[in-house]
Amino acid sequence: MVGKEETAMDLTTAVLRRGIELLNGREQDKKSAAIAGIPKALAELGRTLSGGSDLFDLAQLPRTRLRSPLARARFLRQTNDDAWYKETVMDGETLPFPQPASELAAVDIQPAKVPDDEADKDTLLTRLESHGSLVPVSDRPGYDDLSVYQFFRLLAAVAQCGDSQMHLVAADLSGIQPFIHTGASWGALKTARARSFLLELLLRHFGREVTTAAGLCRAAILQVGGGRLLMLLPETAKVMPHELAVSVNDWLLKQAGGTIYLALADKEVTTAALVGEDFAGVWHELGVLLDEAKAVKFRNKLNELLAVGTYKYSGDDECQACHRDDDFEPVEHTDQDTGLVRRLCPFCDTMFMLGRDLTEYKYVFGWKSEPADTAISLPGISGDKWYWVGGDHSKADYRWAVNRYEEKNGVWPWLRADWVFKPSPAEKGEKPDIADFPYLAEEAKGANRIGCLRMDVDNLGLVDDKLVSQGLPAFLAFSTAVEWFFATGVNECCRKQKRLVHVIFSGGDDLLIAGAWSDTTELLEELGTSFHRYATGSDLSVSAGLFLEHPAYPFYQLARQSAEALARAKNYQRSCLPDRYGCGSADGCGWREGNDCRRKGNVVMFYEPGRDEKIRSGPPPLVVTRLVLSWTQFFEQVCEPARGVRELLAVPGEPVFSRSVLRGLFNVADDWERDWPGWLNRVQWNLSRLRVVCKTAETRARLDSLGTYLRNPEALGSLRSVLTWLDLEQR
Ligand SMILES: [Zn+2]
Ligand SMILES: [Zn+2]
Repeated sequence: MVGKEETAMDLTTAVLRRGIELLNGREQDKKSAAIAGIPKALAELGRTLSGGSDLFDLAQLPRTRLRSPLARARFLRQTNDDAWYKETVMDGETLPFPQPASELAAVDIQPAKVPDDEADKDTLLTRLESHGSLVPVSDRPGYDDLSVYQFFRLLAAVAQCGDSQMHLVAADLSGIQPFIHTGASWGALKTARARSFLLELLLRHFGREVTTAAGLCRAAILQVGGGRLLMLLPETAKVMPHELAVSVNDWLLKQAGGTIYLALADKEVTTAALVGEDFAGVWHELGVLLDEAKAVKFRNKLNELLAVGTYKYSGDDECQACHRDDDFEPVEHTDQDTGLVRRLCPFCDTMFMLGRDLTEYKYVFGWKSEPADTAISLPGISGDKWYWVGGDHSKADYRWAVNRYEEKNGVWPWLRADWVFKPSPAEKGEKPDIADFPYLAEEAKGANRIGCLRMDVDNLGLVDDKLVSQGLPAFLAFSTAVEWFFATGVNECCRKQKRLVHVIFSGGDDLLIAGAWSDTTELLEELGTSFHRYATGSDLSVSAGLFLEHPAYPFYQLARQSAEALARAKNYQRSCLPDRYGCGSADGCGWREGNDCRRKGNVVMFYEPGRDEKIRSGPPPLVVTRLVLSWTQFFEQVCEPARGVRELLAVPGEPVFSRSVLRGLFNVADDWERDWPGWLNRVQWNLSRLRVVCKTAETRARLDSLGTYLRNPEALGSLRSVLTWLDLEQR
């Protein structure tokens, strides 16, 4: 028995090494030698996944590029341009953008040079991930978006199950949003970031515990992020996640009073069911099991749930952050900014410390026994484990390298968007704390406001349905590409411009960012542009909602209003008919439902809860989308004109534009929204008045192009957004 298991483990190493050998073989342009002892079933799986090539037998990788897996989300009959990745070594902090073939045609394919010395399986996997994530295993359509990393990772996961029955195990956290937003308004930013980190850590801890206890390499963890974990385990390991989930949920109940729950589901699978269209059935059943688990939730823990749920709000005994009122050992917490001493429960106290330390860290450390320094303990399979971020802990038992690939035993990569704005230290040697809302509002351009931005992928349910019928590999390749955007891409956008914002969370398929209003607004444009470039050749879209308020506004309200803004953006219905505002694809639209188009891709900026859409009456029938804008409208009818006016404002010695001019234009917007037919006269009057004071031909030319925008009745619905943006900047 032992001998058999060892063979299976050696096979896993052989599989991973083969991936590296093939990557390097590309450089020498030589065929690799066959490797012996590959079980027939595994070789067959490899052939199926690569569209027929036998990568274990005399073979080499195709000299082609990896197609963007996002192109699998196509719902329109029109053909889009395909996009391809330039083969690059992933560094964990730069988002690779797929490009049209025409842009890449002139560039030679750069072969990989991967270190090929002895290493443990997890390290081999790290190598494959950084060097092989953008190299295809096949040049056949339908298979050419599967990377060498995805291919060999899945093969290794199957190989290490040996002859044992395989189980696909899914874990799903529910109640994430309320858990993250819990807490008092003071210090909310710090604890929200800590709470969101803790949930990510919990799933990574879960995956690490199970694979380590089962003696598996981390290839078994197929997906982790966005509150979801997916693992492929052998029969021998199948009870472990269930037992661990029980202790994790006990812990969550005690710490978070039942707001958050880890649901677990497990399904026996065969390799055939993983790769073909049968996977849709497996995925559906897993989903049903997860829903059932969520419905049962803490039902068998009713007494404990009631015990922690009976908050008396007496004021004296409760935690001054989360308001829990059960028997806890209170901690006197001194606020770093104000010096105020508050009475907190130990969990909230730890969250404050974690929030403070989540600013400068290269590693997340883990220990098998309680370390001397502060750490948070999570229930493990054989006893608790302790975790913390930052510092230098050379004696730690585990570690994750954050946003980079370190090829060292025991170091796993962890890509996460964790940008946080820190003011420069006032005095030398003083550790800069993270910027709070008053600081961020003060530092914002113009008005003293904060902003909260939410963005997520549209129609993911529809997209997932389509993907799972193409098999697990397609699903994983696609989800990984989406995850790259929300982890690496979002972080890069914030970091490059040193944005005055904090990423509260960004992963899986959504994000929440809070900070200076001007930076959240500019990020809306930047992230939108970046996503559209990233999704070249795909019909995948995102929607976004932005809400601005005064810095004293409670964080949980801010988060709620921005969620409403996003919901408004998502619920906006266009039709599939080829009218001016329809998608125009009619019968060719894969999002069509009746005459409604489920295609989204909308933006709500400067959300005002009471304000509604306005349908302008009279011919021609025009929808004044002053609230919900398509991305095209947002770029062309908000960002562009705003830039135009900013240029006018910036011309030295030309005081053409002023706040009173802006006010005049607000009147135009009001006229337009009130259906007043004289709006065009008012535009003309404003423009001619401005033209008189223009000193140079250049300014006049700029003013004229602004006039073209203002006279366009279709664009005018977004005028209020342009003016609000500029007005806030000018305050
Ligand atoms: Zn508390
Ligand atoms: Zn449509």
